[in-house]
Amino acid sequence: MLRFPWMSQPQLAIPDLDALSLQLEDAPPQEILRWTVATYAPDAVLTCSFQHEGVALAHMLQAIAPRTPIVFINTGYHFPETLAYRDLLVSTYGWNLVEVGPELSQADVEARHGAELYRRDPDLCCEINKVAPLRRAIAGVRAWINGRRRDQASTRRGLPILEMLPSGLVKVNPLARWSSKDTYYYLKQHGLPFHPLFERGYTSIGCAPCTRPVLAGEDERAGRWAGRDKVECGIHDALDAPVTSSTSSAAEPASGSASDARATR
Ligand code: SF4
Repeated sequence: MLRFPWMSQPQLAIPDLDALSLQLEDAPPQEILRWTVATYAPDAVLTCSFQHEGVALAHMLQAIAPRTPIVFINTGYHFPETLAYRDLLVSTYGWNLVEVGPELSQADVEARHGAELYRRDPDLCCEINKVAPLRRAIAGVRAWINGRRRDQASTRRGLPILEMLPSGLVKVNPLARWSSKDTYYYLKQHGLPFHPLFERGYTSIGCAPCTRPVLAGEDERAGRWAGRDKVECGIHDALDAPVTSSTSSAAEPASGSASDARATR
């Protein structure tokens, strides 16, 4: 398991998180972040895949709590443009990036599961390359800030500002009430660069093999796993689920393979 300095504190009990969430319903994202940091720092992290929502939150946090870890899951399948965008933002703003990745190399996964697992079993591919690395990275964290919005998908419509997972981890959704326009104007207003693929029709950007540009009239996330039932990578659904025998054996490094997981604090 990866160990980071913020993993040392025990979880805090919050007596009435739902009421607190309602209290924060009308608060601007910055106020929600201030509350989060005041309550949980240094045991709070932001996950950011370098989509615009994560970028806006990282920018806000820089003014509020600049040492907050920004966790990036490097699946090994990101677009080169995403990695270049990450590098530009981190070098420009000095964000406290923590990069994590799968324990198995792509070659090891291929040897174990065959080529192009993302085509044949994208749920397993996401488990190996996204969910398992995040599970390791945020073990012991008390607050997980993320950039989901209610209007992104039907599965996100009921998103509260605060939610608690069975493990006690509090998920903080400061942009739950925002629209894509709010995000766009935040980046514009603060002079933040846009993802290079955004103007080419990529309104939601994940791994390259599983993302295409959206067509006119399509939903913002229609380009993710297009043509499949899959609508979420699983990090927001499966994190508290027990690890199955197939996924734990898949996530276990093969003998002699190098671990890709790394931290760059
Ligand atoms: S989004 Fe696609 S390539 Fe990325 S981890 Fe999931 S299935 Fe694999």
